[in-house]
Amino acid sequence: MTKIGIPRALFYFYYYPLWRAFFKDLGLEVVLSPPTNKAILDDGVRSTLSEACLPVKVFFGHTAALAEQVDYLFVPRISRVEAKAYICPKFMGLPDMLKARLERLPPLIDTVVDAGRDGDRRSCWEDCLREAGGIFTRDKQLTDRSMEAAMQAQRRFKKRLTAGMLLTDALEDNKVSEAAAASHPQRKLKIGLLGHPYNLYDPYSSMNLIKKLDALGASVVTPESLTDKEIDDEAAKLPKRMFWTLGKRMLASALIFCRSIRLDGLIYLTSFGCGPEALVEELVARWAKQRNDLPLITLTIDEHTGEAGMVTRLEAFTEMIKRRPKA
Ligand code: SF4
Repeated sequence: MTKIGIPRALFYFYYYPLWRAFFKDLGLEVVLSPPTNKAILDDGVRSTLSEACLPVKVFFGHTAALAEQVDYLFVPRISRVEAKAYICPKFMGLPDMLKARLERLPPLIDTVVDAGRDGDRRSCWEDCLREAGGIFTRDKQLTDRSMEAAMQAQRRFKKRLTAGMLLTDALEDNKVSEAAAASHPQRKLKIGLLGHPYNLYDPYSSMNLIKKLDALGASVVTPESLTDKEIDDEAAKLPKRMFWTLGKRMLASALIFCRSIRLDGLIYLTSFGCGPEALVEELVARWAKQRNDLPLITLTIDEHTGEAGMVTRLEAFTEMIKRRPKA
């Protein structure tokens, strides 16, 4: 059976259910790289340029881990996933960066995802997957059926997220719902967790941030629990249209967290080397400040971040919230 490899990094955290269902239905074996570990990160750091952000380094490590095990690697060239907004430039250039830096790669399937100026979120993925599917079959009926299975899987995934399920659980088809905040009414603290899902939900990169907060008695709310409509509506209130999809998601989530959800604190997890995040971080800090009762902490991660420092900061942050006088 032909094996297609999917690196467990970057846009895996957004679209894995869609891809898995499509390629499995086409009759391919989908091979996922193992969860991030030290060897994967070290490999990624060695093979990228030092200026790359942490998630790109992690992606390189995952690609290298799969390279000799699969017949193809799926690394779509993601440009636009919605009208009039671009995804980060590093996503667009990923296939080229991989080819330039990694040796012994199997053929890359780097079909383009471009919603165009007026395109919608569904059709850009249809075009990309149909073209990728064309490498393996000319059976139009089979491709149509696989496409439908893929869209259904992605809808189910989004539904599980907006029902409050943690992303890592929602990615697993059979996992019974463990809602992030909703199922823990007894928790003392409710923390808004901002950040890209490929940082927040990669236990190695984030140093198990969500589990650590759980151990400190805090439940979390993340941007993934918001619907696309909620994000779009909130983003429309910004004084200028945000033309960067990931930044838009972050800003709109921050606005909702700061203004519409009862939270005890806000944590913003950023990755060193992410240029766009520098702007978002500043705005998030301003909005959090406008609400006197919402403490904010920014945690920046890179390949050198030490776990002890992270634990100390989280303990201090949660303790400070617990001890402050009630308003
Ligand atoms: S948005 Fe930032 S962290 Fe994400 S890939 Fe782009 S530069 Fe890296």
